[in-house]
Amino acid sequence: MEIVAQSYSGSFQSKIEIISLSSDVCPLCSVEEDTVEHLFHSCTVVSEVWKWFFKWCKLSMEQHTSLDHLISSLINHDTSDKGKKFMETTVGCVPWFVWKARNNVVFNNTRRRW
Ligand SMILES: [Zn+2]
Repeated sequence: MEIVAQSYSGSFQSKIEIISLSSDVCPLCSVEEDTVEHLFHSCTVVSEVWKWFFKWCKLSMEQHTSLDHLISSLINHDTSDKGKKFMETTVGCVPWFVWKARNNVVFNNTRRRW
């Protein structure tokens, strides 16, 4: 994964820098390539978070082929309007939590126990 950052010199001329992270290995599991699909779906660390989320929702976790598949199965599990709205609201918390945890490892070198 690469991050493009813009910085400014003392003369306020802009300069684009490409900052390569120290490696392309997932910062959470340190095993697989750091991709979006891996980070939010197939990472072994993140899988535990998804298992917790399914358990919290009192749902059994099935095998999902992708992040889209996982999220759509959660959202479509309850067909009532109230259930769908609840799930659409809460399911976004997991990727947000994972993204924050990843960034804490990458930028602050801090690991949180799961
Ligand atoms: Zn990983």
